[in-house]
Amino acid sequence: MINLIGYPEEKLKQLFTDWGIPAYRVGQVFSWIYLHRVQRFEEMTNLSKDLRARLAEHFVIALPRIAAKTHSQDGSIKYLFELDNGSQVESVWMPDETRKTLCISSQVGCRLACSFCLTATMGLKSNLTAGEIIGQCLAVNNDQREEGQITNIVMMGMGEPLDNYEEVCQALRLMVSPHAMKISNRKVTLSTAGLVDRIRQFAQENIHVNLAISLNATEDATRDQIMPINKKYPIKDLMDCLKKYPLKPTRRITFEYVLLKGINDSDADAVRLGKLLSAIRCKINLIPFNGYEGSPYQPPSEERIKSFQNYLIQKKFSAFIRNNRGTDILGACGQLAAQAMTGSPAQ
Ligand code: SF4
Repeated sequence: MINLIGYPEEKLKQLFTDWGIPAYRVGQVFSWIYLHRVQRFEEMTNLSKDLRARLAEHFVIALPRIAAKTHSQDGSIKYLFELDNGSQVESVWMPDETRKTLCISSQVGCRLACSFCLTATMGLKSNLTAGEIIGQCLAVNNDQREEGQITNIVMMGMGEPLDNYEEVCQALRLMVSPHAMKISNRKVTLSTAGLVDRIRQFAQENIHVNLAISLNATEDATRDQIMPINKKYPIKDLMDCLKKYPLKPTRRITFEYVLLKGINDSDADAVRLGKLLSAIRCKINLIPFNGYEGSPYQPPSEERIKSFQNYLIQKKFSAFIRNNRGTDILGACGQLAAQAMTGSPAQ
């Protein structure tokens, strides 16, 4: 049986046409699934009994199972999901006064081997399907009925989204579709380590979500060391590609820069970063590294972090220090997969 969650809108329209059903019925089905989060065809009361029965013959509506929830003192919640194949992935729910942001995963593990990232230690186990990707959002919306629905989605959890290209694009289309999840494309962000070919391809898709680049170094020697993908796509190639990225007016590319003490946090790094980004409409998120057991890295001192930021601000960049959320639950950037890996108990 095929999971209807994640099933492409165009494909369902075609199927309905083949069945002699008007295409607008797809919008009704999607509304039940993505907005009302109905999981049984019988509950789709504005569809004929025949159509409901036919859908039930071909499809199931299946969400990833919430295996555990861990609450942080800062209000964020880490969800551990179990997938049909028994794999586990994590999402982090980060509410604040105005936004409910969910950070979701695109792969079980990751093959990019960034040296500051705990997910990398798993290697790549498998790719998530579009249904498993968007299913994380629906499952959290179900769980958070009282608190309010997701307003923002960031693809910064486990995995490199552009390394699971087709399934991620399919999930993104459904997130921003006016017939499915209806989230503004301005409120969805895809974060990549810089797969240049895929970024070029993604620029041609009619999806237009925000793009974030996990940069983390200003020289190839350092980036090669902490992000081996840089050997394939060096900084110059990445910057050339981003300078040509078809940004919509008023949009900016976000650069994520995890600050590692003694590795990428010097004044010279700040100067080089300013030069690299001078021709790109962007904002910069400086993320002090959050240590985990066994990591060789440490965060810089507060003074160093401030000095790095001040230089960039002085050069007229929008540069923010982003203190990770959920650090007490290993929910921070690059820390997902910890519990799945170690099997340590979740609350
Ligand atoms: S930082 Fe991102 S791209 Fe790098 S290994 Fe971790 S999950 Fe993969």
